[in-house]
Amino acid sequence: MSDEKQKTLCAHVEEELQVKDPKAYIALIKPATHYCEGCGRSAAKAENVCKPQPL
Ligand SMILES: [Zn+2]
Repeated sequence: MSDEKQKTLCAHVEEELQVKDPKAYIALIKPATHYCEGCGRSAAKAENVCKPQPL
């Protein structure tokens, strides 16, 4: 069972996805519709951040 696709942006950034695979990272954050109340990141989907709030 792979939960790779369910991982939050917050977890991806901890693993430096933005450095290892910038295109995959950008696909998660663009176009941003939500931001994370926990860490302040923005994301294209609410489920990609740990505490989603609409932008
Ligand atoms: Zn977060």
